[in-house]
This record gives sequence, C-alpha cells and structure tokens, in this order.
Amino acid sequence: MAAHLPVLNPEVGMISPRTRGRMVLRLRAAGIRDERVLDVMNQVPRHHFVAQALAGRAYELVSLPIGYGQTISQPWTVARMMEAILENNPIPRRILEIGTGSAYQTALLAELGAEVFTVERIGPLHHHADKVLSRLGYSQVHLLHGDGSGGWPEQGPYDAIVITAAVPCALAPLYRQLRPGGRLVMPVEDRGKQHLQVSHWDGHEARISHLGDCFFVPLLAGTVSLASGEC
Ligand code: SAH
Repeated sequence: MAAHLPVLNPEVGMISPRTRGRMVLRLRAAGIRDERVLDVMNQVPRHHFVAQALAGRAYELVSLPIGYGQTISQPWTVARMMEAILENNPIPRRILEIGTGSAYQTALLAELGAEVFTVERIGPLHHHADKVLSRLGYSQVHLLHGDGSGGWPEQGPYDAIVITAAVPCALAPLYRQLRPGGRLVMPVEDRGKQHLQVSHWDGHEARISHLGDCFFVPLLAGTVSLASGEC
C-alpha cells in the first residue's frame, strides 16, 4: 500500500492535503458514510492520475478527460461503487476491475488492501496506468491490456468485480468469475439512461439492487493499440 505518499509531485507542483481533505468533506456531505472508503479517498492523490493542466481541478467532484475519448470517473461515483462492495463486508481480497482508465479507482482499491486485477482495452492508457501505479508504489496490482468484456477468467475467482464503463445488460458469464458471496458493481445502460447496479452472487443466482443514476463511457469490444500521443 502507498499510505504515506509524498504530497509534492515535481510534475504537478504542490497540492495541499487539505484540498484532498475538502473533497472528502464534500463526499461525506453528499452521503458517503463508509469510513474505509473516505479514508482511502483521503490518501490517494487524485492529481497524479490526471494531466498536469487539470491537476488543479483534481479534487472537484467531477469527471475529467484523460485522453482517447475517456474520462476519470467522478469521485462520488467511485466512492459509491466502493461502498457497495464493502457494505456489511470485510475488505475483498481479490478484485477485478474492467476499465483501468486513469487507474485512480485501481489505486483506491489497492489502498483498501485488496489485490487488484485490472483490464484496459486502450494500449496507451494501460501503459500510462502501469507507470503511474509503479511510481506511486502500488505493487499488488496486476494490469492487462485487453478486452475485458469476458473478465479475466485465468485469475479468478474474485471477491468483487467492478466495471467502470456502461454495459447494455448484466454480463452473466462474469458471475462465474465471482466467489459465492461476491459482488458485481457496474453501470447498466437501458434505453439511453444509466443506473448503477449491484449484483450479490450466491453461487447460483444474483440478487440485484440499484444505487441510482450515473453516467459512464460505454464498454466497447476489442482492443486499441494506438501509439502514445495519438488520439
Ligand atoms: N475507473 C476509470 C474509468 C475510466 S473510463 C477511471 O476513473 O479512470 C472507462 C474505461 O474503460 C476507459 O479507459 C475505456 O477504455 C475502458 N474500457 C471500455 N471498454 C472496455 C473493455 N471492453 N475492456 C477493457 N476496458 C474497457
């Protein structure tokens, strides 16, 4: 875990921990209650996961562009997804994340203490995520460049699966990569509207609950291997 990261990043200048603390206060005011979630949001420096030009906005409760038409998810949504995994549960030991993107949520899941397996379809985002996570000292993360629509079965089963791009329907085969008692959290798109959905998998069937509206980029099939810098 990287609980004691230096706050000074020579590339993006000084961003006060108090700024991050204010984000956590806003998350609390917006209904996030799980102290384990609030604690890791207070630890992980979100400004390291966005471009230098956007670092000053890193602690606003907004999503921001990360290139290639993708976005870093907005902190409240990330926090809510983690709360859904943790509710009445200990920290999951193994988590699969589909859609690494900026790797901010990857780092938060690792900071919780989980071993994280994360899949990203866009080559340069995958490589950048790998670099940022190593620089920040997150060693218990395993990254894969690939199409995560089918999960990462070789590394399963997982205690939780988080999909960070909108899917048109529940991805039934992914349940087979969950341990009984595991949870799948994802944004589901239905008739142009998205909602966050949690599936509690008992080994035979899933009990589904809804967490409210959300907005994510779509889950897409296939992989992209653009050279870094292309868009
Ligand atoms: N949690 C990330 C969200 C990034 S946006 C963050 O906060 O930064 C969603 C990501 O999912 C994008 O990077 C996109 O390229 C990726 N993605 C979309 N479809 C995918 C697929 N089939 N397999 C793997 N990654 C996918």
